[in-house]
Amino acid sequence: MTEATTGATPGATTGATTLALDGGTPVRTAGWPSWPPSATAEQRELLLEVLDSGDWGATSGRKVAEFTTAFAQSIGAQYGVSVVNGTIALFLALRALGVGRDDEVIVPAYTFVASATAVVLAGARPVLADVTPETLHLDPVAVERLIGPRTKAIMPVHLAGAPADVDALREYGVPLVEDAAQAHGATWRDRPVGTLGNAACFSFQSSKAMTAGEGGLIVTDDEAVYRKVWALHNVGRSLEGGWYEHPDVGWNLRMTEFQAAVLLPQLGVLDDQVKTRHRAVEFLRRELADVDGLEVLPEPPGTTASSHHLGLVRYDAAAFGGHGKDDFLAAMAAEGVPLDSGYRSLSRENALQAYSDLQPCPVAEQAADTVVWIRQSLLMADEEELSDIVTAATKVRRAFVSS
Ligand SMILES: *Cc1c(COP(=O)(O)O)cnc(C)c1O
Repeated sequence: MTEATTGATPGATTGATTLALDGGTPVRTAGWPSWPPSATAEQRELLLEVLDSGDWGATSGRKVAEFTTAFAQSIGAQYGVSVVNGTIALFLALRALGVGRDDEVIVPAYTFVASATAVVLAGARPVLADVTPETLHLDPVAVERLIGPRTKAIMPVHLAGAPADVDALREYGVPLVEDAAQAHGATWRDRPVGTLGNAACFSFQSSKAMTAGEGGLIVTDDEAVYRKVWALHNVGRSLEGGWYEHPDVGWNLRMTEFQAAVLLPQLGVLDDQVKTRHRAVEFLRRELADVDGLEVLPEPPGTTASSHHLGLVRYDAAAFGGHGKDDFLAAMAAEGVPLDSGYRSLSRENALQAYSDLQPCPVAEQAADTVVWIRQSLLMADEEELSDIVTAATKVRRAFVSS
């Protein structure tokens, strides 16, 4: 650990250069913007409208239908279905594409565990593919090696809101389910994320770029997929059939009217929020370039808009006096800059072993050891606030290399 009192650096014992971890003065004591942002007047109004109407469920109210249509239209998708959360959205999209027992779905190793457990829920086997070091997206070469007779789908994940190269994956002729849980408002080669595969899934869980606390949505241009998803999320009913007709086996996985009321107004501010985060990431990319050992990951080729759900930064311990990522995160947190450690790589999630033949994924595992996340709420801050991240990183590095 650090010994800031050795006097190796001039002024190392003053409050400004002693790490807060070692009793120094933190770079920042103020908080960061909260996420979600404060509720707007429109959200309150719509929420009360639902409350007073008594139509709290989507089977009697109109808000879920209105939101679903507006969301699908905003990205130019033909059909949408709103559901309880993003995991279930993935489950339903997979099932609607015919994924079931003994099938395999290729999933990147560096993603949220739900990408894989949705495959398990569908009765199939998640097959983990490694990612590319530049983007942390599915590596098409690794995917090609893993495709076999049982491969029923590939799940590109638009990690951190940055669009994955879906065209490269389409070449394999296997249906694509986009995990767009983090990628509201992202575009790839000017095409909206969510319209790049056979079906796409969004999440509205608390941390996501649009949120109602929980929620999910499936979009597709394929009418058959839409009808199947709709049936599965609505107790096996059909669009034209009666309440007690169940031509399919399905479940009640519907979104509530309250969720839709909270979500609807967010469509109008999403693009501005994405732009705010884009400016923040570009500012940090510029400023952190001067801090040896920290690199904001480049935007994947073809990105025309990243949602910037997270800022991904590669941490090089060698440039920080050999201190590991956890030391860095602890020191930054003490300075008032809470960063996140991120995923562990699904290849290390032993619980998945029961459903998947876990092979090492060296790039994802290296990312787990070296990539730190700047969470979405910090990326909503202004440049003056963001410069505290740079000041703290500079201070921590100086202390680490001199200890
Ligand atoms: C959040 C998330 C999910 C799951 O969404 P929930 O709404 O939490 O169920 C799936 N995949 C990724 C990449 C996510 O970030």
